[in-house]
Amino acid sequence: MKSGGPVNVIVVGGGAAGLAAAKAAEEAGLSCQLLEAQDRLGGRVRTVPLESGGLFDEGAQMVNGDMRGLLALAQRAGLHLAPVPQTGIDLCIVGEEGLRGEDLISAEEIYDLLQDQVVRWDSVGEVLRALRLKLQWMTTPWDSFGEAGRALRLLVEKRTAPRDSLASALGALLLCKEDHAFAYSLFSEVFGGAPEDINAQAVRDILSRYGSQREDLEFQISGGMTKIVDGLAADLRHRPRLNTPVRRIRAAHDRVEVTSDAGTWDADQVVVAVPPPVARKIAFDIDGNDRLDGLLSSFTAGDMIKTALLFDTAFWRLKGLSGYVTFADPAGLVITDASLDEGLPPRLVAFQGGPLARDWAALRKEERQVNLLHHLRRAFGEEMPDPRELAEAVWVDHPWSGGGYNATVRIGGDPDAVARLAAWGGRVRFAGAELDDLFWGYVEGAIHSGRGAIARMIRETPSTAA
Ligand SMILES: Cc1cc2nc3c(=O)[nH]c(=O)nc-3n(C[C@H](O)[C@H](O)[C@H](O)COP(=O)(O)OP(=O)(O)OC[C@H]3O[C@@H](n4cnc5c(N)ncnc54)[C@H](O)[C@@H]3O)c2cc1C
Repeated sequence: MKSGGPVNVIVVGGGAAGLAAAKAAEEAGLSCQLLEAQDRLGGRVRTVPLESGGLFDEGAQMVNGDMRGLLALAQRAGLHLAPVPQTGIDLCIVGEEGLRGEDLISAEEIYDLLQDQVVRWDSVGEVLRALRLKLQWMTTPWDSFGEAGRALRLLVEKRTAPRDSLASALGALLLCKEDHAFAYSLFSEVFGGAPEDINAQAVRDILSRYGSQREDLEFQISGGMTKIVDGLAADLRHRPRLNTPVRRIRAAHDRVEVTSDAGTWDADQVVVAVPPPVARKIAFDIDGNDRLDGLLSSFTAGDMIKTALLFDTAFWRLKGLSGYVTFADPAGLVITDASLDEGLPPRLVAFQGGPLARDWAALRKEERQVNLLHHLRRAFGEEMPDPRELAEAVWVDHPWSGGGYNATVRIGGDPDAVARLAAWGGRVRFAGAELDDLFWGYVEGAIHSGRGAIARMIRETPSTAA
């Protein structure tokens, strides 16, 4: 059954990447049909109302001042950017101790150290850089004892840069116990997985290409992130088709055939804008099938539970705390103040990432809440009031996104899978937050990647251009 006339481009997936790709295709004068599996657009962007007023971004929420594509869309839609509250003391809970964030290593320092530690032995330049760094450590004056100690340990143990997991790379940084616990928990949350399972080289490449020096928790969009995807969708001439999961993509002569539960479409080109672990469920019948399967299976979906807790007062501020708390145990639990200064109840948002999310997803909602409140009281004291409302979104084994925040290259996967999948050419291309070079894993990256896939298509196959 053919479900519509042939089009220039089919876009599979109606998240930020797919919508941005469809819009870019139409702007280039191409006919384009977007096919979305779910009964709504947005993918990992979803905003829902709360009982006590205001909204809950179940998925993406924060944005920073370098995310130009997203900010331009927000400005066009007349949306207000609310600063994420950041005053007060950050905490890291290690055992029963509440350590001040300023006394620990920062996330930026860990990222920098990790980039120096994880060396790509496939490039002469990288090897030279690594040797220079080691030499620098060896000649470091003794007043910088930590660095020199690190160099000595590396020499004595004849360590080479770890080629494998993020956990072993972290171990090789020789951080003090508290810094290590903080970094391990942070990575479990950011990548939604156990650092033992995540490919250190792939992470290092993502970090080294990241397009911003600013914090990622700078602003949130009051009105909800969904307004951004709504804005992208509203501009499309050709209405996206919902409830249309694509099952098979087959190259046939000079066309591509895209088969979904709702029928089959013909197109000159296809952009697959779904997360790699979910794309793997589509049956591809195109040149390079095996290579493609190797790339798609290099990714592992993240696991994440996001919970909003609304209170009558911002009690943490009365104690001089920022509300930003990282827990060493359970690793992967991070809390932040995400109150909107709009007469709405103050709120904390808890991110439960990695194995913690997987474990807690197996519990009943009430059990998860008891666990979470127990840990919050470890940070804020037994006198912490109960929240007036608690809302959660479980992104574990999600059928259409795989999980959250994003999929990462797993241990044993191709460390270059991100770049290779993003550069995949021919009649079928790939886009998504996981494939962006500048803003990997963010909505900004999804938008940039979707637009980029269409730009490359037009550049590499000029016959496509209208
Ligand atoms: C809890 C959470 C918090 C986050 N916080 C932030 C944040 O604060 N800031 C930020 O920038 N980012 C954040 N992110 C990450 C961000 O949401 C994602 O990186 C981004 O939205 C991904 O966009 P995408 O278009 O690449 O993929 P998706 O949004 O996953 O879109 C893919 C789409 O493809 C559809 N699909 C899948 N399979 C098929 C198929 N076979 N056929 C048809 N359609 C299919 C899906 O239904 C989905 O709509 C967060 C994510 C989560 C889960």
